[in-house]
Amino acid sequence: MSAKVWLVGAGPGDPELLTLKAVRALNAAQVVMIDDLVNPAVLEHCPGAKIIPVGKRGGCRSTPQEFIHRLMLRYARQGYCVVRLKGGDPCIFGRGSEEADWLGAHGIEVELVNGITAGLAGATQCGIPLTLRGVARGVTLVTAHTQDDSSLNWQALAQSGTTLVIYMGVAKLEEIQSELLAGGLPANTPVAMIENASLPQQRECRSELAGMCEAAWAFELKAPAVLVIGAVAGVGQMAVVERRLG
Ligand code: SAH
Repeated sequence: MSAKVWLVGAGPGDPELLTLKAVRALNAAQVVMIDDLVNPAVLEHCPGAKIIPVGKRGGCRSTPQEFIHRLMLRYARQGYCVVRLKGGDPCIFGRGSEEADWLGAHGIEVELVNGITAGLAGATQCGIPLTLRGVARGVTLVTAHTQDDSSLNWQALAQSGTTLVIYMGVAKLEEIQSELLAGGLPANTPVAMIENASLPQQRECRSELAGMCEAAWAFELKAPAVLVIGAVAGVGQMAVVERRLG
């Protein structure tokens, strides 16, 4: 059998939001390399596996990507069943495709397994529909943080008519607010800021675009959080189903 690595999304945090395929991969895993944002509770599905944390949270010393690549390669070549477990979905701001390409170029078979990305989970947990007939005909997932600090086309985002879901935005709230206002998004556009989506410590702060920073500061919003900006962020008062079944 050829060496294989599973690149698996662990979802936003609630272990019940894992896919069945992710659980099957974890069950089979002998080595699991995990990011910081993965809820350790999901590791109950791989009790016998060697767990290697390779997280890289902003501000902390990160594990170099090259090192992660080589570690996956080494274990895969030794014949271990390797799972690379990432928060949310592996290919939404998760470098999943970079890792898949690198492994592929080194002759390793890769299987990608979707996870529920934080923006989807955060909205749903707050009862916000990211698209809504007659209100929002699309959704844009965007990161406020780039490696080279290149700027976004904020004006295009402001005028896209889609719901904006912003990842990695907590340290960039002032820029987000001022650029979207300058780009023409109305001051009273609803905003929802969702911290620790789907986890027991989830918190949610609502405001309007013009007051977004002040609201976030008063709330002491902390990462990890997603921002949902658009008319739908004012909906969400519909009944939210109990997050955990049973
Ligand atoms: N691959 C991940 C995203 C990784 S980037 C996914 O698909 O969800 C890291 C960013 O994701 C964080 O800065 C934050 O914006 C968001 N994030 C991850 N988990 C989160 C959670 N439980 N609640 C809110 N935001 C989260």
